[in-house]
Amino acid sequence: MSELILKPKGTNDALPEESYRWQYVESVLRDAAADFGYREIRFPTFEYTELFVRGVGDTTDVVQKEMFTFTDRGGRSVTLRPEGTASAVRSYLENSLYGPGLPVKLFYIAPNFRGEQPQAGRYREFHQFGVEYLGSPCPAADAEVIGVYSDILERLSIKNIRLQINSIGCPKCRPVFHAALKAYFQSKKDRLCGSCLERMERNPLRILDCKSPVCGEIAADSPVGLDYLCDECKNHFEETKSMLDAMGIGYEINPKIVRGLDYYTRTVFEFVSTDLGAQSTVCGGGRYDGLIETLGGHPTPGLGFAAGLERMLLVMDAQGIPIPKPEGCRIFVASLGSAADKPVQKLVNDLRKLGVKAERDTMGRGLKAQMKYADRLGAAFSMVLGDNELEAGKASIKDMATGSTFECLLSAEDIKNAVT
Ligand code: ATP
Ligand code: MG
Repeated sequence: MSELILKPKGTNDALPEESYRWQYVESVLRDAAADFGYREIRFPTFEYTELFVRGVGDTTDVVQKEMFTFTDRGGRSVTLRPEGTASAVRSYLENSLYGPGLPVKLFYIAPNFRGEQPQAGRYREFHQFGVEYLGSPCPAADAEVIGVYSDILERLSIKNIRLQINSIGCPKCRPVFHAALKAYFQSKKDRLCGSCLERMERNPLRILDCKSPVCGEIAADSPVGLDYLCDECKNHFEETKSMLDAMGIGYEINPKIVRGLDYYTRTVFEFVSTDLGAQSTVCGGGRYDGLIETLGGHPTPGLGFAAGLERMLLVMDAQGIPIPKPEGCRIFVASLGSAADKPVQKLVNDLRKLGVKAERDTMGRGLKAQMKYADRLGAAFSMVLGDNELEAGKASIKDMATGSTFECLLSAEDIKNAVT
């Protein structure tokens, strides 16, 4: 096949036969977001690179290895958005969304771009649904945000997903944990990968997120952050858990979850599927109380999550969850003879304006071929307009499923009432 018509590596088309599945999931996400009080934010597809370096963190894989960065014509470095939180917080600050008062609850559905090795569930362009809850330091906000995704899974009938939570502390207690981690990894440093050696110096927490199996094995026995939490962080974690208990949301504690971004504090969580292979995390999130300040705002707590739409659809596929198909053609209006051409065009147009999915032939086909086309469209009803019908002002409508026919006046209103 010619290179010209091959899509770039790691990207996907959503073809007409499957795009309804996306529309369905997106509509469920939008409804859930609205019910939980989140309003949509849309932001640009690219931002100045510095935003992501600061807002995602320069020790993360995303910033170090995965960004699509280029120089614009004015010589400024710009980057295709690799994740939504930095953009959402940038816009919150730029547009003073905090003006009317806190909290500010935002959601987005947007494509992201990361230069990763493509495989099932991992692409270079992928889509995320995300929420950001800005302003609240309370565990109730943590529980609510987790609750949003938990509810979404229920709305989509997705099963076999485990919620794993952890707390990674705050700038007050984390240095002690960092020091313990560093000492531990220092003692294993001949086996760590090159990236982790660097991580050990700059942010040893990152090692827990390394995808290399050897580093994973070493990390399995590393000190556990929960043992190093200060009293405030401990209380916050306990309160969050009892809020989840009160909401009837089950969870496991996974002390190895640290999340990919640098500015997470306290609660971090992942929803993990047992039906996906290596790419098993469908949703990840947490608290980022340091982020807004890092981007130049007043110190403001915040938290959120991002969930991959491709992985959600993969799980739904794996679990055979049916997705309602959109309605097809309601009525096919065939034409017989050239005199019928314009009346058919007008009738089909009038029907569509009334909200009836009507179709006609525009390929100059004969009647037999037109009816074949009606079959292919899956038309529920069909009718033929020829000289006789035009003269009589009525035609017979055929129910394509049963073969039965009935007479109807040639008015769009009457036809609509007859076929809907
Ligand atoms: P992973 O550990 O799988 O690389 P991550 O920690 O990089 O994930 P986040 O940045 O937290 O992921 O993004 C949240 C969610 O977005 C993931 O749980 C996943 O569902 C989805 N996601 C992330 N990267 C990709 C990708 N390259 N392709 C498809 N979905 C992705
Ligand atoms: Mg990743």
